[in-house]
Amino acid sequence: MIPLVYHTSYSRLVLPPKHQFPITKYAHLRQYLLERGLVSESQFVSPEPVTATDIILIHDNDYVNAFLQGTLSPAAIRRLGFPWSDDLVIRTLHSLGGTVRCARLALNHGVALHLAGGYHHAHRDFGSGYCVFNDLVLAARLMINEGRAEKVMIVDCDVHQGDGTATLCADMDDVISVSLHCDANFPSRKPPSDYDVPLARGLDDKGYLDTLCQTLSYLIRLEKPDVILYDAGVDIHRDDKLGYLEVSTRGLLERDLMVLGMAKKADIPLAAVIGGGYSANPLHLSERHSQLFIAANRLWEQNN
Ligand SMILES: [Zn+2]
Repeated sequence: MIPLVYHTSYSRLVLPPKHQFPITKYAHLRQYLLERGLVSESQFVSPEPVTATDIILIHDNDYVNAFLQGTLSPAAIRRLGFPWSDDLVIRTLHSLGGTVRCARLALNHGVALHLAGGYHHAHRDFGSGYCVFNDLVLAARLMINEGRAEKVMIVDCDVHQGDGTATLCADMDDVISVSLHCDANFPSRKPPSDYDVPLARGLDDKGYLDTLCQTLSYLIRLEKPDVILYDAGVDIHRDDKLGYLEVSTRGLLERDLMVLGMAKKADIPLAAVIGGGYSANPLHLSERHSQLFIAANRLWEQNN
């Protein structure tokens, strides 16, 4: 049974009218997966919040305290993209805890999926692009500090470059950052990841999947990570509100089958987060994010 991580705080955040972040998508996705029989209630695990002690392993102490206490400057809050609230703090701490839990579960079960996460625009001392603290780098750091892995690879397939992950991993030899992203998308300044694969605007399924296949099969053989943390952002979809690529829903499934399949074949535990995905239509968005769960079911449930 594939473990799934979810907390009710993920969609419990009041945003100003016309805010473009689809905050309800987490609850909608959970419902969508259950209604279609793609997952069952018994698979769900509810995470504990991370502590400030954990977060300062990778983030600046003053930034962490200012966020937790609600004393960030208006400029810092604007850059973050969410208005500060107690609910934002609760959601942030639980969703970081969710990715950490997901990584631990993946180490025990081979695979685990988080119905949130992917805060790759969070830097050491500031947040940006709806990302407060970097769940991927924190989970990687904790797995290594706990002696459960020596090398972690973050495979970021969200349409946006993982700039926060890149800067946080710059001085970590044991956390390898890989980002496949559309070159024309946010962020405009892209600090180097360990491996960056910039993709041209308008790239379709075949171009995307060929590039991913070559990149990932090479990097898995070269780096031999003990764990893969996979950001399965669906903002590479052709109808995504923010992304500039032209990948179809079928292409999303093939991408997820490829990444999960390569990890499984190489016997590397994989923890996936759903990452970005932007649409005003919750059903369309759920369908796109559900491809990750369909892929995992095909690889782990049907042949076992
Ligand atoms: Zn994104």
